Amino acid sequence: MHGVIAGTDLLRKVGLGESVNIGAKVVIVGGGNVAIDCARSCWRLGAQEVEVLYRRTRSEMPAWDIEVAEAEAEGVKFSFLAAPVRFLGENGRLTHMEVLRMELGDPDESGRRRPVPIEGSEQRVAVDTVIAAIGQAPERFNLESLSLETNRWGMITTDPPTLATSRPGVFAGGDCTLGAASFVEAVGQGRQAAESIHSYLEYGG
Ligand SMILES: Cc1cc2nc3c(=O)[nH]c(=O)nc-3n(C[C@H](O)[C@H](O)[C@H](O)COP(=O)(O)OP(=O)(O)OC[C@H]3O[C@@H](n4cnc5c(N)ncnc54)[C@H](O)[C@@H]3O)c2cc1C
Repeated sequence: MHGVIAGTDLLRKVGLGESVNIGAKVVIVGGGNVAIDCARSCWRLGAQEVEVLYRRTRSEMPAWDIEVAEAEAEGVKFSFLAAPVRFLGENGRLTHMEVLRMELGDPDESGRRRPVPIEGSEQRVAVDTVIAAIGQAPERFNLESLSLETNRWGMITTDPPTLATSRPGVFAGGDCTLGAASFVEAVGQGRQAAESIHSYLEYGG
C-alpha cells in the first residue's frame, strides 16, 4: 500500500537526496535509533505532525536518551504503550491506521516487560505515511555455510579478547556479534580482530 514504508528505505532515499512525499501527518513505528532518525528526517522533510509509536514505555526504549530528548525538543511527539494492528486505505493509498493500546506484563526473554494488548482498545487514526522502523537485523547471506556458533539471538559468538569464532582462523566483530550497536564499537572490534588475525598468521592458532 502506498504510504507504508520501511525506515531504512526512507533514510536511504533521504541520504541519496531523492524526493520523498510523506504528506502532513507521519507515524513512525518503533523505539530504536532508526525510528528516531526517521522521525527527525520527516520533520526536516516538512511534515506538520510526526509521532513515534512504541509498544512499551520510554524507559524500555532502545534508542539513546540524547536522541529521544533532541527529537522531543524539535517537536516530535511520542506515544507509548501503543502498537499498530491494521492499515486502511483508499485506492491503494494509506488514509488511516488502527492502533491498539498495550500494558506491560511479565518480563520476556530479553528481560524487558512484555507488552500485552488491551482488548477492545483499538482506535482509528488518520495518517498520510507510516514508517516501519522495526525488526532490523544484520544481513546473513552465506553465514550459515560457515557453521559458526551463534547465541540465542543468532549473533556470532566470539572469544572476547581475540574475537576468534568457533571456527579456527575465522574472526568476527561489529553488529553481527553485538547485535545493533554503534560505529565506534564496530571500528574498535575491527582493529581488535585485525591484531588477532595478524597474531594468528604470524604465530598460528
Ligand atoms: C539507520 C541506522 C542509523 C544508525 N545510526 C548510527 C549512529 O548515528 N551512530 C552510530 O554509532 N551507529 C549508528 N548505527 C549503527 C551502525 O551503523 C552499526 O553499528 C555499524 O554500521 C556496524 O558496523 P558493521 O561493520 O558491524 O556492520 P555493517 O556496517 O552493517 O557492515 C557489514 C557489511 O558486510 C556486508 N556483508 C554482509 N554479509 C556479507 C557476506 N556474506 N559477504 C560479504 N559482505 C557481506 C554488508 O553488506 C555490509 O556492507 C545506525 C544504524 C542504522 C541502520
